[in-house]
Amino acid sequence: MTSPILPGSTIGVLGSGQLGRMFAIAARRMGYRVHTFSPETDTPTGQVADVEVTASYDDLDAVRDFTRQVHVVTFEFENIPVTTVDAVAEHVCVRPSGAALHTTQHRLREKTFLARGGFPVTPFRPVSSLAELQAGMRELGLPAVLKTAGFGYDGKGQSKITSLSEGEAALQVLQGQEAILEAFVDFEREVSVVAARGLDGAFTHYGVIENSHRQHILDVSIAPATVSPKIANEAVEIARSILTALDVVGVLCVEFFLTRDGKLLVNELAPRPHNSGHLTVDACVTSQFEQQLRAVCGLSLGSTEQYRPAAMGNLLGDLWHHGEPNWAAACTFPEVKLHLYGKLAPRPGRKMGHLTAMAASAGAASRLVHAARVALQQSSSGEETTASLGI
Ligand code: AMP
Repeated sequence: MTSPILPGSTIGVLGSGQLGRMFAIAARRMGYRVHTFSPETDTPTGQVADVEVTASYDDLDAVRDFTRQVHVVTFEFENIPVTTVDAVAEHVCVRPSGAALHTTQHRLREKTFLARGGFPVTPFRPVSSLAELQAGMRELGLPAVLKTAGFGYDGKGQSKITSLSEGEAALQVLQGQEAILEAFVDFEREVSVVAARGLDGAFTHYGVIENSHRQHILDVSIAPATVSPKIANEAVEIARSILTALDVVGVLCVEFFLTRDGKLLVNELAPRPHNSGHLTVDACVTSQFEQQLRAVCGLSLGSTEQYRPAAMGNLLGDLWHHGEPNWAAACTFPEVKLHLYGKLAPRPGRKMGHLTAMAASAGAASRLVHAARVALQQSSSGEETTASLGI
């Protein structure tokens, strides 16, 4: 086996959002240097990295210069062009590989890979014309969900369709982009498994995490999930097989729908740490970010043991509607941990930070996170603002 990349070495991160930021914090804590590459400046990752390179992903000369300064490269979001990753891979290892990224950054490729591998997946059809959409709606039934095949996240580029005319309108919005039609799953709950695979093939996971969404964006995650041991075991085994089939070195999250008749369907893969795994930072021996670092550096994976049941609640830009949230009020909850990503523009739906809490049960941790989030909406005189009523 190749020798591990040791502390003191430099890790390159493609992308510069909050996932890169939390990765960089974990890496710097262990004595690594971090260089980040993205088209933006003063980014969540750049603010805590040693070096922030600002250039287009298509500027392959800049990509090669960046690559010469680092010992290994990873990525923190999946919409990195594969040509960029290939240019990096000419000089230095990229983990997970460009092949794993290529499969998982495109919903059609991803679902085709899963279906061919015999994994349970939401029924789907490729759609590139009105005729294909009509055929898909006939075969899958309505309602259904039309999504762009590439570059979609947090519900962007997707619409639920309940009639032919809605389908036509949704297709028009996509303006000829490749699309995928999925059966609408009337799920009982959504769960995820954040897992890691080392260079030596070792596998670790954080158990099953339960996720609730608002407007297609993750709102609250709790761990452990309220699922039976049988379902938990099935979800973990599916994750294990997927990481092996993709030959992942790094962290990958499998998002599932759990149907009302107790079946797991894979909704999506993310070949990196995931929002639902943010609670591992405070609640587990090794966070998902340290695990990513260990994996991409070829070190042994750390323990994923969870200290106590935990919950995480996202803080979206909507919280800034009435001005700066009341941070001091949220900090009156001594068990609640505040994480902010250093983003300057709080747009609605934008992930600005999160709160985490641990308690005797996941439900109690979730109540703490909700209460602290409501407190963020209090004016300094203690009154709740109208915006908090929707939280
Ligand atoms: P995605 O970007 O595919 O992860 O979708 C974001 C969220 O939209 C999911 O977490 C679900 O809450 C919802 N959603 C997406 N696809 C479907 C589907 N086929 N059936 C029901 N809900 C869906």
